[in-house]
Amino acid sequence: MAWRPRRIVACSPKPEARRLEAVLGLYIHIPFCSAICNYCNFNRGLFDAALKEQYVGALLREIAAAGDGAPADTIYFGGGTPSLLEPAEIAAIIGACRTAFALTPDAEITLEANPETVTPERLDGFREAGINRVSFGVQSFRDDELRRLSRLHSASRAAEAFTMARAAGFDNISLDLMMWLPQQTVAQWLESVDALIDVAPDHASLYILELYPNAPLRDEMVRGRWSQAPDDDAAEMYLDAMARLDRAGYTQYEISNVARPGRESRHNLKYWSDGEWLGFGCGAHSTRRGVRWKNLSSTTDYIATVSAGGQPATERRELTWRDALEEALFTGLRLSNGIDVHTVNTRYRTDVWGIYGSALVRFRDSGLLIYDGRLLRLSRAGMLLANEIMAVFLESPVVD
Ligand code: SF4
Repeated sequence: MAWRPRRIVACSPKPEARRLEAVLGLYIHIPFCSAICNYCNFNRGLFDAALKEQYVGALLREIAAAGDGAPADTIYFGGGTPSLLEPAEIAAIIGACRTAFALTPDAEITLEANPETVTPERLDGFREAGINRVSFGVQSFRDDELRRLSRLHSASRAAEAFTMARAAGFDNISLDLMMWLPQQTVAQWLESVDALIDVAPDHASLYILELYPNAPLRDEMVRGRWSQAPDDDAAEMYLDAMARLDRAGYTQYEISNVARPGRESRHNLKYWSDGEWLGFGCGAHSTRRGVRWKNLSSTTDYIATVSAGGQPATERRELTWRDALEEALFTGLRLSNGIDVHTVNTRYRTDVWGIYGSALVRFRDSGLLIYDGRLLRLSRAGMLLANEIMAVFLESPVVD
């Protein structure tokens, strides 16, 4: 049947108008690091104690100004290296969130941490401050790979940090690993995966190294004559790692994330399941009530603006119906459970398969995409080609 966008996609009121107020996630950006890694493209700078103090003051002010008592059930300290903050500073920020929002008693409160920054005392302090989930940026359990990435920790320090966190009482710990590193073979990557499984975290994130255009690592690769394994090996790395994690009792719930039952990242799930969140700090993004904005990226501009009572938000834009639909599809397909097409159809008054089905059917026929009439999801092989498949949502000429 010929596709008729105007008939299928009726003009629709904003979806947010038809749903209950979402329970918020709160993201706190901490832009300080002890050293800058050679592959890093995040919003971060070198640690400076005086600047950090001013920054924490600005954060407290921004959170207080944004507070409207709305319910929130996650706080996520990301960076940068949030574990460079003192436990008392983390406690003050969590306290500001509690005052400004109705934080649920069982809120998930995550601290991203670099292994070299933690001690038993600091971990005790973070727990007392209210942190109940720690996410360690391990990246590799091989020292040669960590050195190539200019990371400050060793493999043994990463394992030690994990043990310290367990001893401090953290029962929800995540580890990040990166694959397709310079000079890394499939076998070497799987060594790190096996080491992670031995450590037995509650959650793990596996990312593929992305080399942005001016990354210093690119020059180092040229100088050192380091190269990345062929594409087919990268696919093998991903598939073999996921198979090992399956066997070890983890469940993959998103393209890059696995968890023990009940240990999925509740905060990150908000990004992938059409949720709402407020971001505080420089460069932080927010999405709420159909509006998206981003804070000033520069740490000093952010501090100056907030300290003067100004608004750090820039690039504020209202999401169109089409933006919101595309994003719901784009992010929903990242999840292993995929998209509940009925729910999206109802919420956006649309017909997802009617619009995109003709472009998606070749992926379904080749086993990359699974559609049972209700759930639309990627197979694991499809996850390797996620970008290509998701591009369908951007290329199809939907009219709103
Ligand atoms: S520690 Fe993380 S945020 Fe900081 S420079 Fe390294 S990769 Fe970037």
